Amino acid sequence: MPPVLTDTYGRRIEYLRLSVTDRCDLRCVYCLPEDYRDFSEPEEWLSFDEIERVVGAFAALGVRRVRITGGEPLVRRDLPVLAARLARLPGLDDLSLSTNAVALARQARALHAAGITRINVSLDTLQPERFRQITRGKLQRVLEGLQAAQEAGFAPIKLNMVVMQGVNDDEVVDMVHFCLAHGFTLRFIETMPVGHTGQAASGQFVNLQRVRERLEQHFELLPGAMPGGGPARYVQVAGTDLRIGFITPLSQHFCATCNRVRLAADGRLHLCLGQEHSFDFRTLLRGGASDDELCEAVVAAIALKPERHEFHEKPQQVVRFMAKTGG
Ligand code: SAM
Repeated sequence: MPPVLTDTYGRRIEYLRLSVTDRCDLRCVYCLPEDYRDFSEPEEWLSFDEIERVVGAFAALGVRRVRITGGEPLVRRDLPVLAARLARLPGLDDLSLSTNAVALARQARALHAAGITRINVSLDTLQPERFRQITRGKLQRVLEGLQAAQEAGFAPIKLNMVVMQGVNDDEVVDMVHFCLAHGFTLRFIETMPVGHTGQAASGQFVNLQRVRERLEQHFELLPGAMPGGGPARYVQVAGTDLRIGFITPLSQHFCATCNRVRLAADGRLHLCLGQEHSFDFRTLLRGGASDDELCEAVVAAIALKPERHEFHEKPQQVVRFMAKTGG
């Protein structure tokens, strides 16, 4: 029997999001303040050896999927080297990446060769000036990154769009056409009140049910599914291969089926995006813990996973930025 890691609410934990840095080369308005400088230093981040040990402990206990994230994971030096080491870990059968794609054009080939097969790319708008306003970056670099990702052979490539009222909600149909034209999967995401940036952006919150209704005026949407183990509810656009996912942490939360935990770059495991429960692995790793002790710590940490977020009841509760937790 393969090992199974279960929390106190009977949820099977099989998915680890691994942040490799809290730094980012963009400053999305709902994520990081424009003048933010308070990043951790590289020596505070887990080394590749430490990451391999702790992810190995999760894999030994039943975690099958790892998604590398950040901050922006591509700003961590030698990321393909780490990816290749993780891809070789026994027990892991799915290694994926979340990126803003700003630096993807240079790295896509090496990351794919290292064993990452699936990627998610954040893209909130197709308009260069609007992109600059939302992210303080250049859209063209993301488009080049996407093209390089296709050429490198990543499949599927999923685009993640945080929908904000009066900011980019007029682009949801354009985004569908863009994904149809390029063969991408599209996911819409509701803004979450994490960090004061996310809390401020909650003023532009859009219930994704409204987005779905708007799309239904343009496309026939059929019930759909998509492998990946995530919380998105999918539809398929009739007569096409396009799948559209709706990630609705606020309007229809999915805590009862939450299968994931997040290891931040500094080795702190966050058990829920919307709560403060956490467990420090770096101290254990640097204190000489054995592999057995690491596995015991993983089980103890998973026992801390709370039942659900409280974004509605306590919207000011989570002060850490998404980039810090590992989105
Ligand atoms: N830099 C990588 C990227 O862009 O995918 C990985 C980290 S980023 C923090 C992960 C995802 O979190 C992005 O899709 C971003 O749009 C999303 N995100 C950040 N802050 C958010 C918030 N307050 N509400 C909803 N999504 C958020």
